Amino acid sequence: MSSSYYKSRIRSEISRKYILDLSTSPKVTRTAISPSNSIANSLNSNSLSRRSSERENHRIRDYSDDDSSGERVLNSYATIRPSECTSQKCLGLNGLKNIGNTCFMNSVIQCLSNTRWLLEYLKKDGYMKDINTSISSMKGALIKAFAEVIKELWSEDASDRVVNTASLKGQIQRFAPRFMGYAQQDAQEFLRYLLEGLHEDVNRVQEKPKPILTEIDEKLSDNEKAQESWTRYLRMDNSRIVDHFVGQLKSTLKCTHCGHCSVTFDPFWDLSLPIPQRTGQLRLSQCLDSFTREETLDGDEKPTCSKCKERRRCTKSFSIHKFPKILVIHLKRFSPTERFRGKLNVTVDFPMEGLDMSQYAADNVSPCRYNLYAISNHSGTTYSGHYTAYCRHPYTGHWHEYNDSRVSSISSKSLVSGEAYVLFYEQEGAKSHL
Ligand SMILES: [Zn+2]
Repeated sequence: MSSSYYKSRIRSEISRKYILDLSTSPKVTRTAISPSNSIANSLNSNSLSRRSSERENHRIRDYSDDDSSGERVLNSYATIRPSECTSQKCLGLNGLKNIGNTCFMNSVIQCLSNTRWLLEYLKKDGYMKDINTSISSMKGALIKAFAEVIKELWSEDASDRVVNTASLKGQIQRFAPRFMGYAQQDAQEFLRYLLEGLHEDVNRVQEKPKPILTEIDEKLSDNEKAQESWTRYLRMDNSRIVDHFVGQLKSTLKCTHCGHCSVTFDPFWDLSLPIPQRTGQLRLSQCLDSFTREETLDGDEKPTCSKCKERRRCTKSFSIHKFPKILVIHLKRFSPTERFRGKLNVTVDFPMEGLDMSQYAADNVSPCRYNLYAISNHSGTTYSGHYTAYCRHPYTGHWHEYNDSRVSSISSKSLVSGEAYVLFYEQEGAKSHL
């Protein structure tokens, strides 16, 4: 689908398309469109509001859920299920109800729902024995609510379902009150909070360990430092979620005066990549290059060199020491400075298969390739936007578009667009064992 697919349409166009769907489309198998009075009225009176007909709306409602524009956009394309989809391998094609500006949440949930190991971990109740009831703030309530949503999405006895996330949203708000209310939120931030919350609920650490206050010995080799740093991280945070999503970033600070290198290792849940140009098209590797490129810290930013014991001009660079099984890449379309000036709609061309990360690996780290399996898309502007997801079905390999309640097929050729915001890659050859 083209990127203009989600762009605002004038009302007459919306109505026309809608009527076409009503009358002619044999492909409508999921959007139960009942030409009831309430729908007709709402179309005629130009008031497709959630309030007017919530029950119908959740089936036909496909407007952009931005309230500030004062305009409802009805993307009422037919929902097409692949005709070959008859086996139970075609489960998981259910939509999520938008309960008020929750498309950011729905988009992330669908990306996680198509994360095969996570799906199986939740669906087969593997997580139950891992629930942390000692130090987890939610005592398992968040992951249980999340698993319920995933199970409903993959339910075998009900297809064509629109799953309600109200109970999960309630638990998310308890865990992270910033997601209270019905304001549009950032999908990447939400993903971070959600993963952190799920992790906490199945953290293997049962007692909060005393923090280690000593610095890691400078004399250790880089590998030993990385190992020590990782061991320290796992003392506090160790779960099946961490096993899959967390990698380790190496940052190297080099003093330009004495040549001393200071190396630190930090865990990361995703890579937030800058988009190094404002318009046009570029490749994902250019964003990765920009992220890992050596930069010079000078002037007020000058760090203190641990050898010179003085503030020196230094170079700083990043490389990846531990590749996560699931690599989440966040394209910084809303950088802090851009936030108020608009969004970068640059098209970043990313590979579906064989994303080669070798050149970003730290020394002595085995090369690593990734395949794409989900994308969280953001369309519109900073203030008036809509989130959807493109996900590869973990059992059929077919791509689908998830737009709140609607699920439709999409060609793998249409995945790259200026709307791609968060990319989910799985490591090639990484067995997603439970
Ligand atoms: Zn120095």
